[in-house]
Amino acid sequence: MTGGRIHGYKTEAVVLRHFPIGEADRLFVLYTPNMGKVRAVARGVRRPKSKMSGHLQPLNRVAVSLTEGRDLDIITEAEAIAVYPSIRNDLTKLSAAMFLAELVDGFSEERSSSPSVYKLLTSALDLAEVTDNPIQLVRYIQTRILQMSGFGPELRQCVACDTPLEPQTHLFSSSQGGIICPNCRSESGHTLMPIPLNVLKVLRFFQQNHAEKALDLQLNAQLLGELERVLDGYTRFLLERDMKTAEFLDLVNPHRVKKAFSIADPT
Ligand SMILES: [Zn+2]
Repeated sequence: MTGGRIHGYKTEAVVLRHFPIGEADRLFVLYTPNMGKVRAVARGVRRPKSKMSGHLQPLNRVAVSLTEGRDLDIITEAEAIAVYPSIRNDLTKLSAAMFLAELVDGFSEERSSSPSVYKLLTSALDLAEVTDNPIQLVRYIQTRILQMSGFGPELRQCVACDTPLEPQTHLFSSSQGGIICPNCRSESGHTLMPIPLNVLKVLRFFQQNHAEKALDLQLNAQLLGELERVLDGYTRFLLERDMKTAEFLDLVNPHRVKKAFSIADPT
């Protein structure tokens, strides 16, 4: 490479989010197969005539050309590969997909290659496009993202004393990343979340199986709610913040609506 020459490159990416900067530009947070998270600017995309703006919508899978900039790389070309119309036309699917994009964003480092996370993200979007159960998909993918990020919880033996766990309700320690057995409870001065046996079993199943099998499991609204409580509690602890999209996902969750109806329904 000659010194001073502008270096360009092409990559595939998923648009995780964007925000406006300057007068007509946007900053994009992209997730790429070989460079992990990349922040890049597209010039002029907020102008009405911009050819790139339609392609660079959040959640779109795109082919992009970039040039290396001093601080941020510049997106020079963008073309959508997949735009997920069914996700965009369904509030639950949309909020589920946004939640997953926020998770990948939260757990990934910039310029740190992770093709397996890229593959997981794109397969999650492909599945969200066709599934009838986006909430269950979210809990499965959330479990896998935790695993791939090195935070997969220990669910088979006590994190403090390594004793294999008895089949019973246990307590989950976010700070220790797994289950605490009854003997170690008193010594653990951490906040613990109860985790019923059936939730533990589902999480173990999620950790070991592909998405298709995970989505075939018949999980009722209560169990999905328990999974959410444990997974979101742990995620919140790890990211040290609330997920922006979690509240919205909860609002549009069809199971939640059904539950509210059954309480109000006198029959
Ligand atoms: Zn123990």
